[in-house]
Amino acid sequence: MPRETMKAKRERALAVAERMNEHYPAAECALHYWGDPFRLTIAVLLSAQTTDKGVNKVTPALWERYPTPADLAAADVRDVEDIIRTIGFYHTKAANIIKCARIVVSEYGGEIPRDMDELQKLPGVGRKTANVVLNEAFGIVEGIAVDTHVFRIAHRLKFAGPSADTPAKTEDALLKLYPRECWGPINHQWVLFGRETCIARKPKCAECFVCDLCPSCGKA
Ligand code: SF4
Repeated sequence: MPRETMKAKRERALAVAERMNEHYPAAECALHYWGDPFRLTIAVLLSAQTTDKGVNKVTPALWERYPTPADLAAADVRDVEDIIRTIGFYHTKAANIIKCARIVVSEYGGEIPRDMDELQKLPGVGRKTANVVLNEAFGIVEGIAVDTHVFRIAHRLKFAGPSADTPAKTEDALLKLYPRECWGPINHQWVLFGRETCIARKPKCAECFVCDLCPSCGKA
């Protein structure tokens, strides 16, 4: 592919966004959180290296046992481990979510802060998680949550170059490319697209609805 100008890349990026809107008009967060920002934060922490489905299976029992941040803050780590033991890294995650609950209670009066920097002070919360929480729970869009799907798709679509080799650099590349109104939808749409079509091991290019816009399209 000849070198693409920024203008051409932006146009291609917008065309991808339009197709995503057509295919995923109502994409939403797959994690169950009952409209509660604290529960969402914990669910996102639990979802690292595991499936959203797996998290959704354990959270009803977790919230039944510990309905409030103060309840979770006072929990015994072994009891929490028992509840979440079907998900990956449950041992570390149990300790982390209790620590997170303690800080939310002691520093933030039991409420998840609505601020990117403050959110990242919570144990286990990085920029990706903070982006998801701000966007989903508060409707605040400050960036794009670059998880494994968004990272892979950004690179396959060549919206991020080889030097954008971290989630932070990939997020920067996407933020430069897309206008702000596209940032929120990307968070949900690209995750679905990455699970269904542009899958990690073998992308389904033959049935991909952005194949004509993708430099990596492997359609025969
Ligand atoms: S054409 Fe293939 S590589 Fe490109 S976005 Fe679609 S599935 Fe992914």
